Amino acid sequence: MTRLLLIGAPGAGKGTQAERLAETFSIPAISTGDIFRHNVKNETELGKQAKAFMDRGEYVPDSLTNALVRDRLSQADAANGFLLDGYPRTADQVAELDDILGSMDTGLDAVVLLTADTDEVVRRLLNRALEQGRADDTEEVIRRRLEVYEEQTAPLISVYADRGLVVMIDGLGEVTEVTGRILEGLAARGIETL
Ligand code: ADP
Repeated sequence: MTRLLLIGAPGAGKGTQAERLAETFSIPAISTGDIFRHNVKNETELGKQAKAFMDRGEYVPDSLTNALVRDRLSQADAANGFLLDGYPRTADQVAELDDILGSMDTGLDAVVLLTADTDEVVRRLLNRALEQGRADDTEEVIRRRLEVYEEQTAPLISVYADRGLVVMIDGLGEVTEVTGRILEGLAARGIETL
């Protein structure tokens, strides 16, 4: 049973690594960004509410995001572990997650912090814009997303560091290389697959 968070700036490579880690540990990768995009695409009520925020590079309000994650973590496949990618991103979300895990009588095993410098993340995101055409990958919105990350999410790192949970990983380099670093960092804390 492995319960992990993946934190990092937009473009740090969270989504890519989340997929690989989830497979390695046989746990679901839960990406709030993916869930929101899925809802936007299918024009659900949640998608309609989230879209305006996402298009501007702002966070979706905590009330919506917290309800979504509470529901997702109550599903059967998350009972034996999970990897949260892109949640929590605000202090309020940290409190909510503490509450959810507390009521499940469990806690986090580690918080993987993926680092990458600003030039590199902007380069990756602009490249992804060309490849995938994501609505929030324009230069102006990318800049806003990075600002919001610095303002609201970067401060959460010290919260988890104070709890001794942070594993800091250099996100630059080949995808497989970065995965290897994460697995080593987790193994050093005794978090390993069987
Ligand atoms: P990235 O990390 O590359 O910016 P994501 O795919 O994780 O992108 O998220 C895309 C957008 O979805 C965010 O800019 C935000 O609007 C919304 N979102 C995702 N996760 C959260 C969250 N935990 N809280 C609020 N909004 C979120």
